[in-house]
Amino acid sequence: MELLFPQPDLPPVVPDGIILLVGAADLPGQQRLLAALDRVLRAEPPAQARVKGGGLTSAAMTNCGQVGWWSDTKGYRYQPNCPGTGRPWPPIPTEFTELIQRLTMQSPWPDFCPDACLINYYGPGAKMGLHQDRDEKDFSQPIITVSLGDSADFLVGGMARRERPEVIKLGSGDVLLMGGASRMRFHGVRKIYPGTSPLEGVTGRYSLTFRKAL
Ligand code: FE
Repeated sequence: MELLFPQPDLPPVVPDGIILLVGAADLPGQQRLLAALDRVLRAEPPAQARVKGGGLTSAAMTNCGQVGWWSDTKGYRYQPNCPGTGRPWPPIPTEFTELIQRLTMQSPWPDFCPDACLINYYGPGAKMGLHQDRDEKDFSQPIITVSLGDSADFLVGGMARRERPEVIKLGSGDVLLMGGASRMRFHGVRKIYPGTSPLEGVTGRYSLTFRKAL
């Protein structure tokens, strides 16, 4: 039976300090971001990183910016050079910073100026366990995530790992700002929806996470 009133696409209710901008980048905008992303990926291809226990991250990672977040058997940190080549990370493309500036202008963080952008690539089965981002110096600054490619279930939990997380579906072009009272919330990625990417030639999901690390 056809619904008399089709289910509207209501934005999910998100906790204080979290701002979800659905479709912040339209398709042409996403294509511009993707072209810039391609240059970064060619300069510094993503790789799975070692974690302290000896395993590998599920997502493949690379960075652009003054410093990049990396993990190895010694732990996590921001570092100015890529672990593989020893070269400095490529700069954050202007296409990225223009989007971030446009979005933060009207936000609670109008002066946000990222010096690090961690790029995570999630293949069809990749996920990311609940964690807090706590290697940055200034927790008054938000973390901003731009999604490109396949949709994902993003998890937003509480301040303790045991709190049951909410699911926020993130699609290509959506942007999630996480700051203020929610800056230290546990978060993760539960699931990727293969084949949902509106971008031709992209399988899987790229998340570009902008940070003020130094
Ligand atoms: Fe994180």
